[in-house]
Amino acid sequence: MTRPRPARTSGHAGTLDLARNRAQLVFDFAEGRREQVDLLGGKGANLAEMTRLGLPVPPGFTVTTEACRHYLAQGEEPQSLRVQVTMALRRLEDQLGRRLGDVQDPLLVSVRSGAKFSMPGMMETVLNVGLNDYSVKGLADAAGDERFAWDSYRRLVQMFGKTVLGISGELFERRLAEAKTHAGVTADVDLPADGLRELVEVYKQIVSDHSGREFPQDPRDQLDMAMRAVFESWNTERARLYRRRERIPHDLGTAVNVCAMVFGNLGESSGTGVCFTRDPASGRQGVYGDYLVNAQGEDVVAGIRNTVSLEDFATLDPASHAELTRIMRRLETHYRDLCDIEFTVERGKLWMLQTRVGKRTAAAAFRIATQLVDERVITQDEALHRVTGHQLAQLMFPQFDPDAPRTLLTRGMAASPGAAVGKVVFDSATAREWADRGEEVILCRRETNPDDLEGMIAATGVLTSRGGKTSHAAVVARGMGRTCVCGAEELDVDAEAREVRIGDVVITEGDVLSIDGSTGEVFTGALPVVASPVVNYLEHGLDAALVGVDEESGELVRSVDRLLRYADRARRLKVRANADTAEDAERARLLGAEGIGLCRTEHMFLGDRRVHIERLILAETAEAREAALATLLPLQRDDFVALLKEMDGLPVTIRLIDPPLHEFLPDYTELAVRVALAKAAGSSDPEQERLLAAVQRLRESNPMLGLRGVRLGLVVPGLYGMQVRAVAEAVAARTGDGGHPLVEIMVPLVGSVMELHLIRDEIDKVITDTADDTGVPLAIPIGTMIELPRAALTAHRIAEAAEFFSFGTNDLTQTTWGFSRDDVEATFFAAYLEKGVFTVSPFESLDRDGVGALIRTAATAGRATRPDLKLGVCGEHGGDPESVHFFHDVGLDYVSCSPYRVPVARLEAGRAALAADTGSGLL
Ligand code: PEP
Ligand code: MG
Repeated sequence: MTRPRPARTSGHAGTLDLARNRAQLVFDFAEGRREQVDLLGGKGANLAEMTRLGLPVPPGFTVTTEACRHYLAQGEEPQSLRVQVTMALRRLEDQLGRRLGDVQDPLLVSVRSGAKFSMPGMMETVLNVGLNDYSVKGLADAAGDERFAWDSYRRLVQMFGKTVLGISGELFERRLAEAKTHAGVTADVDLPADGLRELVEVYKQIVSDHSGREFPQDPRDQLDMAMRAVFESWNTERARLYRRRERIPHDLGTAVNVCAMVFGNLGESSGTGVCFTRDPASGRQGVYGDYLVNAQGEDVVAGIRNTVSLEDFATLDPASHAELTRIMRRLETHYRDLCDIEFTVERGKLWMLQTRVGKRTAAAAFRIATQLVDERVITQDEALHRVTGHQLAQLMFPQFDPDAPRTLLTRGMAASPGAAVGKVVFDSATAREWADRGEEVILCRRETNPDDLEGMIAATGVLTSRGGKTSHAAVVARGMGRTCVCGAEELDVDAEAREVRIGDVVITEGDVLSIDGSTGEVFTGALPVVASPVVNYLEHGLDAALVGVDEESGELVRSVDRLLRYADRARRLKVRANADTAEDAERARLLGAEGIGLCRTEHMFLGDRRVHIERLILAETAEAREAALATLLPLQRDDFVALLKEMDGLPVTIRLIDPPLHEFLPDYTELAVRVALAKAAGSSDPEQERLLAAVQRLRESNPMLGLRGVRLGLVVPGLYGMQVRAVAEAVAARTGDGGHPLVEIMVPLVGSVMELHLIRDEIDKVITDTADDTGVPLAIPIGTMIELPRAALTAHRIAEAAEFFSFGTNDLTQTTWGFSRDDVEATFFAAYLEKGVFTVSPFESLDRDGVGALIRTAATAGRATRPDLKLGVCGEHGGDPESVHFFHDVGLDYVSCSPYRVPVARLEAGRAALAADTGSGLL
């Protein structure tokens, strides 16, 4: 158990009352309501709601999350809790006419966790609290079943020992197995009363040997200790891990539900089960569930015995089944959603132990939302709130067949979703060569750089051992819709030796791996992949997507279509794509992009064209430089013409070159070695030496903060001028051809309005000259990216020289936090997530308090200077569901993201508009 941690909820309304012992820390089920989920947790609030509805819920009470937070912060219960529990216990005893742990006819209770957000199986439960060496006999008499009473007692000692006293569960399991062997039986239910009585003695001995104390015989001690264990289970390793994955804040705490026990293990007319009002896996209509005769809840979860279906339950106990069916319908109508239910039958009497709005797969979420609209249970607005961009993203990627057996090799970061299977290769050239001959390949690198683009295009998946979610590999892979796992740090990639090692395992070139970009898992061998009908729909339309698909996929695709079209009608934010080529632009348009928000022109300088940039950098005379620029100009112009043609009539924001020049030059170390070897061999090459000198000159220890963006434009003569000329000529050419080019030129990494004024002088002149030369009037808006805190803070000045702002939230995040975007995610983010500094990487989902505050400041200040200033965002956050809501709220005009995230952004922009309208704030 972990040490109590300080709570971070100092602003909580009840804190003062709590300090004064006035806060209500215990609520009877009959007192609470579903809306009190923050205080009572999901389970407590729903038990209260079912009680209010008059459903058969065993009585009980809930200890609030506030009490838990106090306990975790102070290391002890709030002072008044003990008394409040006593009062609630007395009410419960009076209601049932039995006393906790009474020797005649004992009241027994279950003690269960229940946080605001369901965390299935992550926290603790203790059943049968109240049994001891005396009350066990009372229970046997009252139930008329000695075996049952001893079985309940041994379960209590076992669960209490494991959960409350922290004794290894294995010790108990082993003795249980021995007892069964000794009695000559295989199932727990066949152990006779005598065997169970002996087992209780053995268990109590385990408790005293391993915890240094006797099993507590006082029922109230049992209750208090069990409640405390539930509080503490909030902070177990697995609970924290689960919260990190599900992005549940660490400071909520759990409620504790104390509920009168009802018994599913009282013979053949008793049992326990779970059921759903619709299929949570596929969304199919109908009821689904499992029932286990003569069992308590944990037996179902443990999978000890085989369960039977609800149809079989109907045969076994028609009356209970009929009542359950009525209740399921009632609950679904009441909650207006898929409900997930736990129930117990005690000697033919049905009891409801839990309900909640059930978790479901992405496919089920879409289908159920539209089913409920058609059944007139919810409105279209509500339906849109029932699905998320994350779910849509999941539906878009091919997946590994969930039923296939697999061998996990390692895990990295889930950088770009999808399921890719291929032969491992270690360099771009091999990737292309093998892909050209029809092989599927996984490009495996320590990290990637722009040079690897060719290999990334050729590969079906990309795997790196370094770099985070905004590393080059991740950003580029997402842009291309390529599956990518990055930062798999256990992998030791040796591209020279063409192998990757992990522990004793060596994977060599050509070995097959399967990588899951949605989970970050890497498997050895080929896993079978199933394709997504939703992508087919998004790319080719509804009719095409419905051809040849089964009924369920058809319904899914129709649901996605309806909800996405509804979101499009509701949203205010425009959605553009980040695209650098005509092919990307075409795909983006198919996926619903309404323009290009970021064309990274540096991507047009890769491959064969890199030599021209190299020439430009090495140029020692004006003539040499101009010659290099002149070679680049027509190439760039043709790229822009193709892009503008594809996006005719839609805005296209072209960003002038941004990355530091060294990215276009060979690697320093490799080159230095080559030159040194040549020198030693007496065969020096002056060209190579000049290159080495240039590389040395441009080398920076943190190039992301050095000579890049507008700084390059200002110190490398002619570079931006050439790019602007290429853009302007492309616009003139398209206009001449009868097109409607709507281009915007964007200047990256501006920190001061002076930089923008200076560069605008050059840009404006080139545009005017081109207009004169071509005879085509050119009106090209010039704007800037806001990527530096200084830019955000001086946005009122910068807006004097910018017609639009586009927030570059990748750089703005790195510069605000002082994190290097290429390095930190793989190094210490795991520790930061663990320590709760953040629940999600700020490179993945916008840090509203910090980076968001800068955006808000800049948006307001910019518009104060220039009311019609157009505002957008083109960092990775533009396609992140939660961030899209922020961008809506802050009043941006558009978000721009990778083509494959365009549908996700469309959906979330619609949800954000509705949430703002209804004030529901649902995310
Ligand atoms: C950004 O910084 O958010 C951005 C879009 O630019 P890049 O990722 O190319 O630096
Ligand atoms: Mg940037």
